[in-house]
Amino acid sequence: MTPDAEFGYELLVCRYAELTWHPSEGSRPAIVSRQLGTQERRWDTVVLEVDPEAFERRRAFGDRTIDSDLLHVVRGAPAEWAWYRDALPDPGYPWRYVRQAVHRAAGRDLIEKRRRNNRIQLRRVRPYPDWVERIVAVENKPDLDRSAADRLADQLTHDIETGLADEAWLATETTGERVEPALLREMPVEAGILATDFDNGVDADAVDVAWHPSDLAPGEGERRDRETETLRLEIAERAYGKGWRSYHDTMRPDCRHFELRRDGRALLPYCAAKGKVPTARECSGSCSEFSPEPPQWRTKGWPIEGGPGKGFERVLARRRERERDRAENVE
Ligand code: SF4
Repeated sequence: MTPDAEFGYELLVCRYAELTWHPSEGSRPAIVSRQLGTQERRWDTVVLEVDPEAFERRRAFGDRTIDSDLLHVVRGAPAEWAWYRDALPDPGYPWRYVRQAVHRAAGRDLIEKRRRNNRIQLRRVRPYPDWVERIVAVENKPDLDRSAADRLADQLTHDIETGLADEAWLATETTGERVEPALLREMPVEAGILATDFDNGVDADAVDVAWHPSDLAPGEGERRDRETETLRLEIAERAYGKGWRSYHDTMRPDCRHFELRRDGRALLPYCAAKGKVPTARECSGSCSEFSPEPPQWRTKGWPIEGGPGKGFERVLARRRERERDRAENVE
């Protein structure tokens, strides 16, 4: 497969995870995102298994990511009014940045603030919940060849060593054939293997568990250090805010050739000019075939206000909301 196909494959894996998670342990409430991680390591697909009740309380803070500076404020905000320097843990960087974050958090109604005796005080609106149960990383490699297998083995080993994820998987395409056993033997035994065949669409039958993963979470009585916990929460917050359908942020849904096409139970971007799923990189303002949708599409003659481009964005946003509702078990 070409790199172009890898992007489409990644979206199919995301949709599969959203529909059927967990692959071997029965249904678990989860939300899915993609292309997230740390400076050293970016995961293709990220599955957050959530506690539904706590997730509902997280949603009360709004749809956007609470970034690391805001998290410091929101998690530390006290139940009663207090000067922010008394209330919050020492940030390890200048307090003036914390003060800015307090203002930003109040601007988003994440906390309350007031001024007393020339000091900024804050209190929480509601406690920040412990909503993330497990973080699962999935590497997508539709075409597993020798060099890809070597690279993946290194990446998955890194995941296992850093303990950021609770579980790691490799997803690879089989299209009816068996996965090459010699290559799979190179993978760390702790990583699970999903053998996919999406030719007939995305559902539970399209995926076999070729190898079961180990639980990478600390054992009983052990804990992750505070830094790792914070990093995990930052990744989870980014995953929550971003989801996996936000590709339209970097692509050009306002191009007249851009479409959303159904592929089984998945909705994928499609370029009518190129006749394929475009990658986020090629579907940009520098694309030689980019052609803005005509202004009249945005006014009359098109049933959706704002033209098809805006309509696609709304469809994707609504789907993301629906999946969040599902993870919270609200119909
Ligand atoms: S022509 Fe280019 S910009 Fe337009 S949809 Fe296709 S890839 Fe995207």
